Amino acid sequence: MKHVNIPVFIPHLGCPNACVFCNQRTISGTEKFDEGDVVGIIDSVLETTVGCEREIAFFGGSFTGIDRDLMIRLLDTAEGYVSRGEVSGIRLSTRPDYIDRETVGILKKYTVSQVELGIQSMSDRVLELSKRGHTSDDTRRAVALLKENGFSVVGQMMIGLPGSTLGDEVYTATEICAMGCDGARIYPTVVFKDTELDAMRLSGEYAPLDVGDAVERSADALEVFEMHGVECIRIGLCDSENLHSEKTYSAGPAHPALGEKVMSRLFYKKIAEVVKDNTGAGAITVECPKGAVSKVMGNKGENRRRLEKEFGIKSVKTIENDDLLGYNVKVLFS
Ligand code: SF4
Repeated sequence: MKHVNIPVFIPHLGCPNACVFCNQRTISGTEKFDEGDVVGIIDSVLETTVGCEREIAFFGGSFTGIDRDLMIRLLDTAEGYVSRGEVSGIRLSTRPDYIDRETVGILKKYTVSQVELGIQSMSDRVLELSKRGHTSDDTRRAVALLKENGFSVVGQMMIGLPGSTLGDEVYTATEICAMGCDGARIYPTVVFKDTELDAMRLSGEYAPLDVGDAVERSADALEVFEMHGVECIRIGLCDSENLHSEKTYSAGPAHPALGEKVMSRLFYKKIAEVVKDNTGAGAITVECPKGAVSKVMGNKGENRRRLEKEFGIKSVKTIENDDLLGYNVKVLFS
């Protein structure tokens, strides 16, 4: 059965932090939050998703950091839908330092299936430069507490934060896996207007990644998740108006098919690993998992052209092999 999250965005409510990249209202696309709208938002998605497995997802802010009474009222509302059998559970996103025993005790009273943590980086240096306001140890404690109490945990990480290197990002992805997260999201850093990061960019203190670098570095993080069997459920922000409007977008990798490009890049790396010792091999046939042919070839044949250019491959054919999963490929030379 298809899974659908019913997103209820709660922008910046109660958040006293000032992460340099954050303009939460821009990211969530919601200017204001009105508690009275919540039932209407949920009901409208329920009407259009009959037959799907649905969960209410309190995303967009730091849900466990908002006013405690409001948090409990929202959980009560969501739980009403669970008890009527209209949704199967509740998801929420929050910061690592807003998870403690008391909070976990409250969440356990509700059908909260999954908590997404804005980990962003496991480098304390990068966290500090991003004014994130928590440390990597806060993240370790939060993940351990959530896992001990039976919650599924998704770790969100960012690529290209101030001071962040490829090494920091591979380390962050590796730590997300080592801590036992069940899933991950990769967000290359986009610079929005009215953020401190934009001021840093304008002063020359911060240089955003271009699409090519963001793809390259995200593919390396994705490879780590793939190697550890941790599912990456999203790469890049949703392609909303905010990413394309002059009013909100300032700079950075905002490609409409960023996720596809990253997946495609990882396939390229896997194929290159095999063909690098067979330069001048003539033609190759790449067997790939079901549904992956277009990603193996790359956007407008980008991977094929690169294989031809870098390794002198004359032609690249792709066929599906039902026995292959994930990003595994078999390369046959002829
Ligand atoms: S924790 Fe940071 S990213 Fe999240 S809402 Fe607060 S300032 Fe924004």
